Amino acid sequence: MMGKRIDMTGMKYERLTVIDESNRSNGHICWNVVCDCGIKLTVRGVDLRNGNTKSCGCMKSEATIKRNKLRKGKKYKDKEKQK
Ligand SMILES: [Zn+2]
Repeated sequence: MMGKRIDMTGMKYERLTVIDESNRSNGHICWNVVCDCGIKLTVRGVDLRNGNTKSCGCMKSEATIKRNKLRKGKKYKDKEKQK
């Protein structure tokens, strides 16, 4: 159902912390978020909750670097349990 808004203020999704609500885009509520690296951006709530958007983009490049090094430490959440 559209129109039901989920308050995501203050929630953290991977690197993105939700600051406040932004405008809607095609019926989707968008949120102003700030990445751990300090970059602010606006993303759709569904993308945050689905894990489609986890960072401003910096995570991708870092993930590549990490892979080239060692794979230890942080575990990824059960986002990747598709087999
Ligand atoms: Zn970032």
